[in-house]
Amino acid sequence: MNLLRRPGNVRRCLFVAIFIGVWPLSHDFHILGGYVDWVRILIVEDEVRMAALLQRGFREEMYAVDVAHDGIDGLHMASESEYDAIVLDVMLPGIDGFEVCRRLRAMDRWHPVLMLTARDAIDDRVRGLDAGADDYLMKPFSFAELAARVRALTRRGAISRPTLLVVGDLRLDPATHRAWRGETVLELSPKEMSLLHLFMAHPDEIITRTRIIEHVWDFAYDGFSNVVDQYVSYLRRKIDRPFGTANLETVRGVGYRLRIGANA
Ligand code: CA
Repeated sequence: MNLLRRPGNVRRCLFVAIFIGVWPLSHDFHILGGYVDWVRILIVEDEVRMAALLQRGFREEMYAVDVAHDGIDGLHMASESEYDAIVLDVMLPGIDGFEVCRRLRAMDRWHPVLMLTARDAIDDRVRGLDAGADDYLMKPFSFAELAARVRALTRRGAISRPTLLVVGDLRLDPATHRAWRGETVLELSPKEMSLLHLFMAHPDEIITRTRIIEHVWDFAYDGFSNVVDQYVSYLRRKIDRPFGTANLETVRGVGYRLRIGANA
């Protein structure tokens, strides 16, 4: 459809994509009301206006979105953080998208990568896939198509992870966003679910406040760590206190840890 070809159309296209094309497709992913920040993506795009539009579009889709404007920053962010998908432009200042992807794979980083290729050239696509990209999309593209492909990639990524996380008698199903203590269903908000997911993916590991903020909120989140403490306390009220357990421990001055079997 080449909807993004003319800059003047971009805003309108985003609206169309979000309200007509994208929302129905995303129902299975984001329960009504929004699964805020459950999925975290990185956009590496040097065209500032395009990057901002994509960021806004994906935020409307309830993703946590980080942006890098060149290959060096993109590589750095992708090597430091866990993303569910990376949208990577090929033509970048510094090191190009192919090289970013190649270096990530060489560092044993396997985030799903979708490359934005500028030209209708078969060798760009081949080069992208050779560099370790999972998918590509040619510019210009419609936001709806990009969003659909990113959804497909993040789903595919989830398949390689354990389908059900189990820590003691806590269970969490990332696919359905449900969690239990024993046979009791835990009623968690999206943020609490995302937080519990992080702890259950790393049992007995100290998780710093910074890491929690990075996982559950955007980099751009400008509040500070007391919001983390607050959410941890909400979570305790749901996963520990009613059950007489104390699995979610404070590690003073550092962060938190979900202990396997503490007070169980
Ligand atoms: Ca570019």
